Amino acid sequence: MATDCTTQTLKDAKERQSFRRKLLAWFDKHKRDMPWRRTRDPYQIWLSEIMLQQTTVAMAGPKFTAFVAAFPTVHALAAADEQQVLRLWEGLGYYRRARGLHAAAKVIVAEHDGQLPRDVKSLMALPGVGRYTAGAVASFAYDVSAPIVETNTQRVLARLTGYRGEVVGGAGQRHIWEAAESLLPATGAGKFNLALMELGALVCKPSDPRCNECPVTAHCTAFAAGLQSEIPKLAAKVKVTAVREATVVVRKSGRVLLRQRAKGERWEGMWDFPRFPLDGEGPLFVRRELVDKVRDQTGVDIEPGGLLKTLKHGVTRYRITLDCYEARAAGGRVRSTDASPVRWTPLAELGDLPLSVTARKIATLIAG
Ligand code: SF4
Repeated sequence: MATDCTTQTLKDAKERQSFRRKLLAWFDKHKRDMPWRRTRDPYQIWLSEIMLQQTTVAMAGPKFTAFVAAFPTVHALAAADEQQVLRLWEGLGYYRRARGLHAAAKVIVAEHDGQLPRDVKSLMALPGVGRYTAGAVASFAYDVSAPIVETNTQRVLARLTGYRGEVVGGAGQRHIWEAAESLLPATGAGKFNLALMELGALVCKPSDPRCNECPVTAHCTAFAAGLQSEIPKLAAKVKVTAVREATVVVRKSGRVLLRQRAKGERWEGMWDFPRFPLDGEGPLFVRRELVDKVRDQTGVDIEPGGLLKTLKHGVTRYRITLDCYEARAAGGRVRSTDASPVRWTPLAELGDLPLSVTARKIATLIAG
């Protein structure tokens, strides 16, 4: 792999100092206001960093405020019921993050007296905390001189240093983390890390970076070589797979049939209408399949009705077409297991339970 990179412009201390000065002056002028930037509370900073993984700032903002209102401290989060945590996380996706947050809060209370550790190593020992999150908490909350690398800084650092290999591989990551570390100031690391992230988000964008507005063009190898659009080299795109699924709203006396997703399943711990891959083609085969699969999942026999709605959504590399059917209960008994409880739920209680995004859409549809 061609890595043909140079850190010439950032090699000596004087250059690095000049780079930091320009970046920080730009940040003072252009930084955006975000709820988690108004606090130095390590708990809130940790929470925001977990939320912002795979979630946009616009989406995370209201969720962050609601989450902090419900669980204002690590102790409150540790004492919460997991279902409450998942309900508040609803809509952000990647629910493993919420479960990790909850598990980590318990560890922080049990082993760290309710205080987030200051050092990267202890932070990384917590469930769901990787090197990026540990560096973010340590530097933003405690101003520990710890580097961070996430999507934005990775792109900026690859361009600054003219790194032409793939940034996602082992060698690429080593290079980027070393570059991040080498640029850190001895004090004020938190602000510096935020400034680098902000530069990536606002100026050094994935396509068409705004080099004419960039405060550090004089230090940028990619800019000097005219390689901004070729760096960073991206990994081959993951192939998207189309999947067809069905979900069934089974009604009985003003209640609907719900099943809690088992450990290891997508959306573990969330409640959902019976849902499964759909193989059959044509109304008769689909009808048979709905009856058999709802019985397999829940023990309940159904009389299928019509198609309520088709929803399209993406989960990781899958593009899912979800046909949502209505049905009425026609017999059988609810078969619940510890791993996957099944229950009849009054419509009015759907608002209290954590549901998958599509299940929430369906719940809203049938409530209206
Ligand atoms: Fe990014 Fe352009 Fe600035 Fe280089 S000069 S860091 S490519 S915006």
